[in-house]
Amino acid sequence: MLRLSTRDDENMPDSTILHGRLATEFKTIRAMMKIYCAKYHHGTPLCESCATLLQYAEQKLDRCPYGQQKPACNQCPIHCYKPEPKAQIRVIMRDSGPRMLLHHPILAIRHLYHEKQACPDKPQINASNRHQRKQNPDK
Ligand SMILES: [Zn+2]
Repeated sequence: MLRLSTRDDENMPDSTILHGRLATEFKTIRAMMKIYCAKYHHGTPLCESCATLLQYAEQKLDRCPYGQQKPACNQCPIHCYKPEPKAQIRVIMRDSGPRMLLHHPILAIRHLYHEKQACPDKPQINASNRHQRKQNPDK
């Protein structure tokens, strides 16, 4: 059964470690994975392999040296993903991207806009979400 309503995110909690734009990016990727997994793996909401991939994506967002200035991955010179998860994510984005417009129009448009923005020259020092959260553990 495909469950593609936008209202059933309750069983997929937000990231507890990401803030700001990184949290939004996490939501976007999570929504894409949910669409993809429902279609191909009948995940409710995510199969084990997609859940593992989502965790990997969260860790990469947390450690991204650009932090809140993070460019879209297609603009980034760093390529922090290993080849296998990178290939998986690309397949998911290509497949679910168009359908995101229907199911999550605001996230989808934000993502498309983000992909057109140039990457900042250099990451600022200690900008990563991970560093920030270690500095301000109460946030
Ligand atoms: Zn799956």
